[in-house]
Amino acid sequence: MKALLLTTPSAIEKQPLRLEQVDIPYPKEDEVLVKIEACGVCRSNLHMIEGEWLQRGIPAKLPIIPGHEIVGRVEDVGDRVRHFKKGDRVGLQPLWLSCGHCSYCWTGREELCPEKEITGETVDGGYAEYVLGKEDHLYPVPETLSAMEAAPLFCPGITAYHALKRVGNVMGKRVAIFGIGGVGHMALQFARVAGATTIAISRNPIHLQVAKELGAEECIHGEDRSALEKLKREGAVDCAIVFAPSSAVAQLAISLVNAGGKVVLGVNVELGSFSFVEEKTVLGTVIGSREEMREVLRLAEERKVKPISQGFSLEDAPEALMKLKKGEIIMRAVLVL
Ligand SMILES: [Zn+2]
Ligand SMILES: [Zn+2]
Repeated sequence: MKALLLTTPSAIEKQPLRLEQVDIPYPKEDEVLVKIEACGVCRSNLHMIEGEWLQRGIPAKLPIIPGHEIVGRVEDVGDRVRHFKKGDRVGLQPLWLSCGHCSYCWTGREELCPEKEITGETVDGGYAEYVLGKEDHLYPVPETLSAMEAAPLFCPGITAYHALKRVGNVMGKRVAIFGIGGVGHMALQFARVAGATTIAISRNPIHLQVAKELGAEECIHGEDRSALEKLKREGAVDCAIVFAPSSAVAQLAISLVNAGGKVVLGVNVELGSFSFVEEKTVLGTVIGSREEMREVLRLAEERKVKPISQGFSLEDAPEALMKLKKGEIIMRAVLVL
């Protein structure tokens, strides 16, 4: 099969991905071989490919095939697979495997499982024609969704949905979303579905335009100090979700949110000083559980949310990553095979 291999992590400008012919993997026991229709291109793929996460042991092996938001069809199954057969349409999210017996797995928080495997980071992912998945971590994908709109559900979709769950009930609340990219534009849609009034904040005028089209009640440029100060003055932000990878933005979100409010962070940032007297809560968020993944697919099938994506061929993945780095991708790049 054709696959893009990362052998030596380095800046994307140095072309660290190589297109090669490799053997199609063989599904053992509870594994499923998936013929890939599409795979999204995530900013975290870029971080890994450029070697930013080497100190954290990511990727866990080299060479590795990146990519963790995958839609395709079952091609073959291992001996113990019971619930999928050849031709079924399925998807894989970043959570490739969880142990199934730790306290997190027992309580439906398997994204925190200490023995988890991550698609495209610890095992081969979706920048290829085929990928292996585990039966218990595959999800049926409705035929009514195109591959281009289904693939981003498996990372931006689940990540945004889980972030909203971390906030809690947002019915009637004003939710500010900082960073309107692949994940942010999904968070905006899920917040609206949950009954929130949304405020989109971004430095990219094109992204703000998308937020407006998606129904954001207010769209504010990230450098518009007077509009941001007005939010603060009017006590207009009950809670905030941050996907812009910036410490200054995270600190701004914490300062803007009303007393007693919550700020959910989906990026690594430095928080600086934090005053306890306003009883604000800062929470982290990372991918999401299998149950939440199924809920995301249901909402997409009901047409309540719809990812916006731009198609590229497998061969053009380096170009898609380059454009992502330069901020030139509208919401999500998807490799379509
Ligand atoms: Zn991702
Ligand atoms: Zn576990």
